[in-house]
Amino acid sequence: MEPLFLKPVFQEKIWGGNQLHTVFGFDIPNDKIGEDWAISGHPHGVSIVENGPYKGWKVSDLWNEHRELFDNAEGDVFPLLTKILDAEDDLSVQVHPDDSYGLKHEGELGKTECWYIINAKPGSEIVYGHNAKNRDELAEMIKDERWDDLLRHVPVKKGDFFYVPSGTIHAIGKGIMILETQQSSDTTYRVYDYDRKDDQGNTRELHIQQSVDVTTVPAISPELEVSESKKGDSSVITYLKTDFFNVYEWDVVGELSLKKAGDYTLVTVVEGYGNLIVDGQSYEMKPGTSCILPAQVTEWTVEGEMKIIASTPGTK
Ligand code: ZN
Repeated sequence: MEPLFLKPVFQEKIWGGNQLHTVFGFDIPNDKIGEDWAISGHPHGVSIVENGPYKGWKVSDLWNEHRELFDNAEGDVFPLLTKILDAEDDLSVQVHPDDSYGLKHEGELGKTECWYIINAKPGSEIVYGHNAKNRDELAEMIKDERWDDLLRHVPVKKGDFFYVPSGTIHAIGKGIMILETQQSSDTTYRVYDYDRKDDQGNTRELHIQQSVDVTTVPAISPELEVSESKKGDSSVITYLKTDFFNVYEWDVVGELSLKKAGDYTLVTVVEGYGNLIVDGQSYEMKPGTSCILPAQVTEWTVEGEMKIIASTPGTK
């Protein structure tokens, strides 16, 4: 069984830039590309397989018709979405619903997400959490636009990792590239968009009531229990194990042999070059290369000098 290599899907954004070309070498259609949907079964940008017997298939169709590739996992939709984001400008301050609110009001999953910081310009920061003590105070601070009082800012640097459960008010700041592992959802409630206007002079829609409804109050700051296991010169860092996904960094120096640790594995190279070897067959890996290792791929080797972010589905 071969890895399923996937064609990138580019999304133009008001805050996007050109680093998916300059850093990742992708042939992007313009210099306002904010997101590469690297591994997606979501209808707003579904990945298509580029190689092997499933060449041309959409990930969502494989999920529906070849569930054995995913170890016959349950669920109506392929549950994960991996993106690479280039924030040339600030993203809106936003919050996402949990599954019960998302399914009831939007007809799709909620969105818990997490970020690996690929790079960040000096002085870059994110919005991560808020200072309101209760829901009334949250609503009041938003209404009065007391952003400096409400929003918590956190400085970031390359290699940092953040867990962003549904209900967390957050924003990625300008100058930051991230790899995002998230639930397969495209529901965003915008709290504040810096009063920005697009080329036509329009502002983007805000979703104040939904934001107040779904925000966790008071804010919680999740503690990460990051662990690292050395294998020769390489290492495997475990960032997160949650109901939704488990997320790892494979820091490859030389050769790293691994065994399947979930129903299937999502793989994206964030830095460096090398090869992925499955059943004696070698596949070239470079920045931005993404694939799914289906259930039937039970062991593999990565070689070269690369940083890879990998994820497996959680228990939900
Ligand atoms: Zn978000």
